[in-house]
Amino acid sequence: MSRLIVLLGPPGAGKGTQAVRLAAKCGVPQVSTGDMLRQAVAADTPLGKRVQGIMEAGDLVPDELMLEVVEERLSQPDCADGAILDGYPRTRGQAETLDPLAKRVGLGGVGVVLNLEVPEEEVLRRISGRRKEGGGGERADDRTDIAKERLRVYRAETAPLVDYYRKRGVLRNIDGVGSVDEIAARIDAALQAEEAA
Ligand code: ADP
Repeated sequence: MSRLIVLLGPPGAGKGTQAVRLAAKCGVPQVSTGDMLRQAVAADTPLGKRVQGIMEAGDLVPDELMLEVVEERLSQPDCADGAILDGYPRTRGQAETLDPLAKRVGLGGVGVVLNLEVPEEEVLRRISGRRKEGGGGERADDRTDIAKERLRVYRAETAPLVDYYRKRGVLRNIDGVGSVDEIAARIDAALQAEEAA
């Protein structure tokens, strides 16, 4: 059964960590739009040149461009059985085009949306402090002012997707505060309940 799982949540919610684990567990790729864009910037591709400034400012890459990037990725054979989408969709526009896209590439549609819930103060602490981790490898977008901008963008553009997917009956809220293993267990329980339903 092909299956598209979306991880939703504010920046710093731990989506990436859980997406990697879940992808390994489900045997499908993790598709992180943030990682893909950062790779494009690092390799200085035409896409990278277009998005670098946008990313550094903490703003969103235009929907049309993201749609191309995601469609091209989900069309690849390794996604034939599904994917864990991490960081996509992030706007109403992206969400509205995702179901048709999923159908075009042979994945039925969005199966389940896991919403990682983390209080705003906690998230701000995590993303403005990220640069201190990992031996000083500062990510250009992780200074405090940029962190605030990313949160503002999340609130304005992405948070409404919680309601959007709740109304469609595919949203599952996951408490995102706790250890990586605790959160992983909550995700697994939610997916199991899904399968049993
Ligand atoms: P986070 O650290 O918040 O999880 P990501 O690593 O997912 O952030 O993304 C980093 C940056 O890449 C975003 O701030 C944005 O500029 C760009 N980006 C990633 N995914 C998208 C998307 N779906 N739509 C628009 N821009 C995106």
